[in-house]
Amino acid sequence: MAAATSPTSTKLDVEAVRRDFPILQREVYDRPLVYLDNAASTQKPRAVIDAVATFYETTNANIHRGVHRLSQEATDQFEDAREAMRDFLGATKVEEIVFTRGTTEGINLVAMSYGRANVGAGDEILITHMEHHSNIVPWQLLCEQTGAQLVVAPINDDGEIDMDAFASLVSERTKIVSVGHVSNALGTINPIAEIGRLAHEVGAVLVVDGAQGCPHGAVDVQALGADFYACSGHKMYGPTGVGVLYGRHDLLEAMPPYQGGGEMIRTVTFEKSTYAPSPAKFEAGTPNIAGGVGLGAAARYLQSIGLEAIERHEAELLAYGTERLAEVDGLRMVGTARRKAGVMGFVMDCAHPHDIGTILDREAVAVRTGHHCAQPVMDRFGVPATSRASLGIYNTREEIDALVDALQQVREVFGG
Ligand code: PLP
Repeated sequence: MAAATSPTSTKLDVEAVRRDFPILQREVYDRPLVYLDNAASTQKPRAVIDAVATFYETTNANIHRGVHRLSQEATDQFEDAREAMRDFLGATKVEEIVFTRGTTEGINLVAMSYGRANVGAGDEILITHMEHHSNIVPWQLLCEQTGAQLVVAPINDDGEIDMDAFASLVSERTKIVSVGHVSNALGTINPIAEIGRLAHEVGAVLVVDGAQGCPHGAVDVQALGADFYACSGHKMYGPTGVGVLYGRHDLLEAMPPYQGGGEMIRTVTFEKSTYAPSPAKFEAGTPNIAGGVGLGAAARYLQSIGLEAIERHEAELLAYGTERLAEVDGLRMVGTARRKAGVMGFVMDCAHPHDIGTILDREAVAVRTGHHCAQPVMDRFGVPATSRASLGIYNTREEIDALVDALQQVREVFGG
């Protein structure tokens, strides 16, 4: 792995970072790939690819239950990855890190385990208007099952939570507050610590959808006041199909299992089973072992670059991108919050987002178009869809220029 920066240095060496990502060498339609779809999924550095390949080549075995050498080594590597994620998220104990399939499973776990045990008819679950479907539908399911109410805090025209309205919606009835750290559709960075204080004043727990929080800067679950924090490996330069849920230890210990099966039990008879302590209690069945090992490698890779350097690099690129996109006639940004991560959603008066995406693709510029699993956000801004360019650690100003050039072509094609 290249020493792209040291954790304390101020500037990220983007060319060194790019050399860590083999896929960035490839071409699309005979042009260098410009990958601006990082909010959907990030590319993988050599460190992660090697960790997964080496695991399969040298260690592969099932974990936690074998006395043989490979099983013990596989277990050690998987548990070491748990420790890497504990450190990455600033949790105090490894027992607070539950391996999941990703953010979606993490939020469902909280809804179905904590939620069913602690929420009843007349209680309220508070979310915001900018949530991803993964942070809406699990709570709707919980409400259907318990008779609780889903309450939605409004957002303003810039795509920021209206905090006065939010505060007025928090009451003794509120049992769970669940908010995205960073909006995938708008890029807004939400004031999680402030939201945590409001939730805790009434005894509610704070669940944070960290899918877009983890890849872009340092996360400290304690400073944020998060009782639960869910994230996905594939959004933070790790493998797909693996993620973690951080949960406060006392809460996890008191929660019932989410799924039943092997690994999560202490004893089983036909009359009754008893359960292992957390995190095993929430990890029924064989997990994505190689994926977990790869996720640990991703966390350490990001730390080796330095989360502050990453945040600064993406902030500079976002400022440049926002300025350059403003040069394109008839383009309107959707999401103009004061505190934003590297997500640039926009619409153009001359073309539908899908047409924009198709033309950009022919120029080897990969962006996402659609509702971004955030249909209520699209409704709020009165658009069916947006085009979204989302930044990662390897993106450059030249790639933003390529995006803007391709958008000028969209204008030419659609006669703007
Ligand atoms: N929450 C947000 C804000 C997201 O952007 C995403 C994915 O796009 C998710 C949740 C769901 O993540 P996953 O599909 O990895 O479970």
